[in-house]
Amino acid sequence: MNSEKLSNRLATVAKYIPEGAKFADIGSDHAYLPCFAVQSGKAISAIAGEVVDGPYQIAKKQVELLNLQEKISVRKGDGLEVISLGEVECITIAGMGGTLIAKILEDGKEKLQGVRRLVLQPNVGAVSVRNWLIRNNWELVAEEILEEEGKIYEILVAEPGDPFLPYGGTNRDASLLMGPFLMKEKSAVFVKKWSNELKSWQKILENLSRASDTPENRRRKDEFSRKIKLVEGVLQNEKSERV
Ligand code: SAM
Repeated sequence: MNSEKLSNRLATVAKYIPEGAKFADIGSDHAYLPCFAVQSGKAISAIAGEVVDGPYQIAKKQVELLNLQEKISVRKGDGLEVISLGEVECITIAGMGGTLIAKILEDGKEKLQGVRRLVLQPNVGAVSVRNWLIRNNWELVAEEILEEEGKIYEILVAEPGDPFLPYGGTNRDASLLMGPFLMKEKSAVFVKKWSNELKSWQKILENLSRASDTPENRRRKDEFSRKIKLVEGVLQNEKSERV
């Protein structure tokens, strides 16, 4: 696995693995990330965890192909059950929904003692990850947003600390949804992501306005209206700051 073959998304996740760390990549699939991190010298060793047999076999083959068996242990199992307490300093979980990432962390909570960094890349629903981090005293220390092959990805980096620190001085609901660091930075990719979300929510709201007036539809309308207001507020701010 060389850097040309690694996606920008996974290369950005790798960037946040502490130098010389032993880390676990949960839901590793092809094990590209552990192979890259170990081959490049960023990590000294890694565990590639996979719950599904097909990807687990692919990960094993990839590690054997690169002759990295001594440094990368490929293990089959659900979430953090593949690691023992104190075995790794860093955990990466990439390419899944935010709800699943939060569930994996919640289910394996006791294994997080001694872990000093989490690098999480939810494909959707980053808000679930941010909520989990707050509830469990993990402080967001960095966020990145990037676009690759027409998709936009967010990467969240957290360490044990003050979970509220990054949210100080921000609208909490907006920053939980959009990311406190990303909101401050307001990159072009960030503006693109949330402008697209706005358009799709506005369409849903229009459809809901035409649908029958049931309690469930009313609840959904309120929820979308609230989110639209939050995101419009942040994007409006962006426009006025750039005028
Ligand atoms: N992490 C790689 C990446 O970002 O390119 C692969 C992402 S792939 C879309 C998600 C992988 O997570 C799948 O191979 C799936 O089997 C695995 N997975 C899902 N739930 C899991 C769990 N609870 N424990 C371990 N692996 C899981």
